[in-house]
Formats: sequence, structure tokens, C-alpha cells
Amino acid sequence: MNVPVLNPSPETAPQPIDPLDHLADHLFHRMGSDGVYARTALYEDIVERLALLITRHRDAGTEVMRFPPVMSRAQLEKSGYLKSFPNLLGCVCGLHGTEREIQAAVSRFDAGGDWTRSLSAVDLVLSPAACYPVYPIAASRGALPKGGLRFDVAADCFRREPSRHLDRLQSFRMREYVCIGTPDDVSAFRERWIERAQGIAGDLGLDFWVDQASDPFFGRVGQMMAVTQKQQSLKFELLVPLRSEAQPTACMSFNYHREHFGATWGILDANGEPAHTGCVAFGMDRLAVALFHTHGIDVSAWPPAVRDGLGLAQHAAKADGGVSA
Ligand code: ATP
Ligand code: ZN
Ligand code: MG
Repeated sequence: MNVPVLNPSPETAPQPIDPLDHLADHLFHRMGSDGVYARTALYEDIVERLALLITRHRDAGTEVMRFPPVMSRAQLEKSGYLKSFPNLLGCVCGLHGTEREIQAAVSRFDAGGDWTRSLSAVDLVLSPAACYPVYPIAASRGALPKGGLRFDVAADCFRREPSRHLDRLQSFRMREYVCIGTPDDVSAFRERWIERAQGIAGDLGLDFWVDQASDPFFGRVGQMMAVTQKQQSLKFELLVPLRSEAQPTACMSFNYHREHFGATWGILDANGEPAHTGCVAFGMDRLAVALFHTHGIDVSAWPPAVRDGLGLAQHAAKADGGVSA
């Protein structure tokens, strides 16, 4: 009998080793899809400690809001997301129609067919960033007070960019500080945060630098949008060379949207002009992966200053019955 020589399927074909792969077994459990992982207790503890560290740096007078992983489709459409990143968006779909129509889709599945042909979109999308829902909420409150408004927001975000790299997930946590105010309010906010964020990265013992960046806008028109964004210095990133200096990982971003959201949602600043907005975004999962890659998976061996910053030093002392310094 001839044994057919099969091409290896994508699942069984050997994958090139990535420098972050050694972390996978310690931090994640696979869930059957690249970039979507269950998280271990070791990993999650560090994500929670990072969140507390970021909270400690919060400006006074910042309003806290936590968003679910889904948001209004109409609001995201109005925000212009489809002009910029239609390729990344995940939309919630459901089986609609009569009992007979829904049953027909299930029967098709039972017979080995494709039930998803019967899906249609509902009024929700998966949030692609944490700050989108905050602008319509701010707009509903009327004109801004002098000095503007500041928010602390977070959400589980989704972007359809499947990758085997542990620092590029499809489902990841984003924390953001957002400023809505005059151009001066937002510039001061962003400058303050570019400084403060570097302090945080230094306290975490990460190698990093801050550089101008552009978003990966979709398509040929998008390439022009990216050039303009760079020319106007609208985006900076805090980059950590996890893989190499040539291909660093953006662990935080500092974004100036000018009057885009203010004009879209009709938010007026204290001078009656369309409000300007800006945000600083922390990639919680990227920061955690960066910490483990930099300092190793044995958290007890992390540099004392880093442990201290994350509240691990006191923790160990207490567990040993010792007295923390
Ligand atoms: P990249 O250039 O790496 O795709 P981005 O410019 O798309 O990043 P932002 O839109 O600025 O990232 O998102 C804010 C932060 O969220 C990023 O700085 C990063 O830390 C985190 N982030 C973005 N995309 C992902 C992802 N796919 N997986 C994990 N974290 C992410
Ligand atoms: Zn934002
Ligand atoms: Mg991206």
C-alpha cells in the first residue's frame, strides 16, 4: 500500500521559535485560537499589581469608569472606526428570525453544514479600545468645566489580528487615562503622562524608549492618514525591545485626537470651542509579558526595587512573618 505523503497541516507544521515562546506554559493556557488565552494565577497576580501601580499615579480629580467588553455599534461607527481600522473590528452577530429560521440554521450545522450563514449583526461591537465609550458620556453632561475633564477607563479589548506572538493578542486588557478639554489642557496632560509613564517603566526595570508613531490605518488612504498623524506628532509610544531593538513592542501609547471626538460628539470646552481630547493607553497584557520576559518567571528573584513597586516585597515579608522595610 502506498503511504500518501501529506503536506503538514498548519496546526502540525513546525512553527519558528519566537523569543517570547518560553513564557507560554507559565503564563497562559491555550484556548484553541491564536491570541486568545486563559491566564495563570502567576500572570494574573502581576496584571492586578500593575493595575494598582497605575492607579497610584492617577491625577487627582479623575473619574473612574469600567466598561464591558462590548459597546454600541452605532457609537463606534459614528466615531469613524470603519474609516481607520475596519479590518480589526469584531462585530457581535446573532441568529435572528422565526423559530423555524433559527432551527433551520441549527439543522444545517447538525448535518455538517455552515450555520453561520444565517447570522446577522446586532447593535454591539467588541470594543477595540477602552476610551471610545467615554466621549458620548462626557458629551451628555454639557459644556466642559474650566480645566476640562479627566477619566480613568478600562476594558477588555478585541482586535482581529491573530498572531502566535504572545505580545499580540486578539483579546487583551487596556487601561487608559483620558483628558477632554482645551488644546492646552490636552497638551499639558500628554506631556505630563509621557514623563510619568517613563518613570513607571523605569520603576518596572524595563528597557524602553519613547518614539513618535502612527496607527496602522487600513488601506492606501490609511497610509496617507498615518503620514499626517506622524507629521502632526499625534501619537507617541513607549517601546520595549522584547524581541529586538529593530522590532520593539509598544507597551503604552500617548494619543492626541485634536478635536475629532469633540466635534463628533458635540463636546464644547469652557471657551465654547469644540473640545480636544487625548489619552494615554496602557497595554496591561503587554506590560505583564514584558515584565516576565525581562525579569524571568520566578517572581521572587525579580529586582527588589521592581518587587517593591509592585507591592511584592511587603507581601513576601508578611508571608515569612518578617517585617517589611
Ligand atoms: P501596535 O502598533 O503594536 O499594533 P497599536 O498602535 O495598535 O499597537 P494602540 O492602538 O495605541 O496600539 O493601543 C494601546 C495599547 O494597547 C498599545 O500600546 C499596546 O500596549 C496595547 N495593544 C494594542 N494592540 C494589542 C494587541 N494586539 N495585543 C496586546 N496588546 C495590544
Ligand atoms: Zn484612547
Ligand atoms: Mg495595532
